[in-house]
Amino acid sequence: MSSSRHDRSLPSGSPASQVSAPPARVQEVSDGIYAYIQPDGSWWVNNTGFLVGEHGVISVDSCATERRTLAYREAIRSVTGRPITTLINTHHHGDHTFGNFAFPEATIVGHEQTRKMVLAEGIAEYRTLAWTPVDWGDLRPCPPFLTYTDGVTVHSGELRCEVRHVGTPAHTDNDSIVWIPERSLLFAGDLLFNGGTPFVMTGSVAGTVEVLEELKGLGAETIVPGHGEVCGPEVIDRVLGYLRFLADVAERGRAAGLSPLEAARETDLGEYGGLLDSERIVGNLYRAYAELDGLPRGGPIDLVAALGDMVAFNGGRPLTCLA
Ligand SMILES: [Zn+2]
Repeated sequence: MSSSRHDRSLPSGSPASQVSAPPARVQEVSDGIYAYIQPDGSWWVNNTGFLVGEHGVISVDSCATERRTLAYREAIRSVTGRPITTLINTHHHGDHTFGNFAFPEATIVGHEQTRKMVLAEGIAEYRTLAWTPVDWGDLRPCPPFLTYTDGVTVHSGELRCEVRHVGTPAHTDNDSIVWIPERSLLFAGDLLFNGGTPFVMTGSVAGTVEVLEELKGLGAETIVPGHGEVCGPEVIDRVLGYLRFLADVAERGRAAGLSPLEAARETDLGEYGGLLDSERIVGNLYRAYAELDGLPRGGPIDLVAALGDMVAFNGGRPLTCLA
């Protein structure tokens, strides 16, 4: 009996999934400020961005794999020859921090808890458990080493970039935004997915709702979400709509004695079924159930079980990863 791990229909070293990832691109979102958009924004395929100032470049986040991070560096280089002096991490997830090591000249800035989580998880092995295989490259954990608790302002020439911790667990227990008030421009990290299913498994449903309601008051006109195309504030309401739907499914499923997986299987995702990575409903329900049970926001849940049930929801197939 042959093992599926050695399926010869896949060329070795180049998973078929990699071939189908559309190319990344640089998009100027304001004078001297760029989003680096990596389509299609699904699992592990994140956005970054950078500001070009007179003394150098400030980057918001790195990428998941060595190859993608080096391509991102090349993209910065295609815009400016100035040194990359600063790298800000919006949260600890590997798609935003695994590539930190490729910025040895930069001061890496992040929330205290972002540093703690990068140190605790390292290059987390769970990346190989639930997703289709990709070439991750030679990754080394590299946490923020200039940390803050509430926030810090980084200056790109005359331009203020306000790095603000959101104050409560939301997408994770360590989310920060990068807000550039003079340009009404927001780097939202993974508080916002545009075209992908929102994901709060490692954070909080209630916390994310609270944070997004506050974000609406910021007055952002241009938003670079953590995944998906550059957008405006309308995406905040779309994500809030999903979270309300999620909370409703959780309440009814829990009352009916259904497990998160069962509740997800019995639910018609409706308008949300067309979002990328719809299996996140299961991980999100694990978090929503835990909160209904009284677990504090961001408290520990069984992530291995949640990942396993997302795979089960996906027909037992590994989750699609184009990283
Ligand atoms: Zn994330």
